[in-house]
Amino acid sequence: MSETKKTCDLCGLPIEVSGFTLKTQQGSKGFCCEGCLGIYQMLHEDQVMNESEKFKENNHESR
Ligand SMILES: [Zn+2]
Repeated sequence: MSETKKTCDLCGLPIEVSGFTLKTQQGSKGFCCEGCLGIYQMLHEDQVMNESEKFKENNHESR
C-alpha cells in the first residue's frame, strides 16, 4: 500500500488539503486550493459534471 500524494490538476503542486475535487467526464480531478478548482472549472466547463444536472437526473429516475 503506497500512499501516492496527489498533485493539483491545474498548477501541479502537491495537494495538502483534500476536498477541492471536481468530477469531470475524465474522472475526478483534485486541486490544491479553491482558486485552482475555480479556474479549472472555467476552462473545462463542458467537461465538468454539472451537479444540479445530476441531481435532476437522479430525481427523475427515482420517480
Ligand atoms: Zn493548484
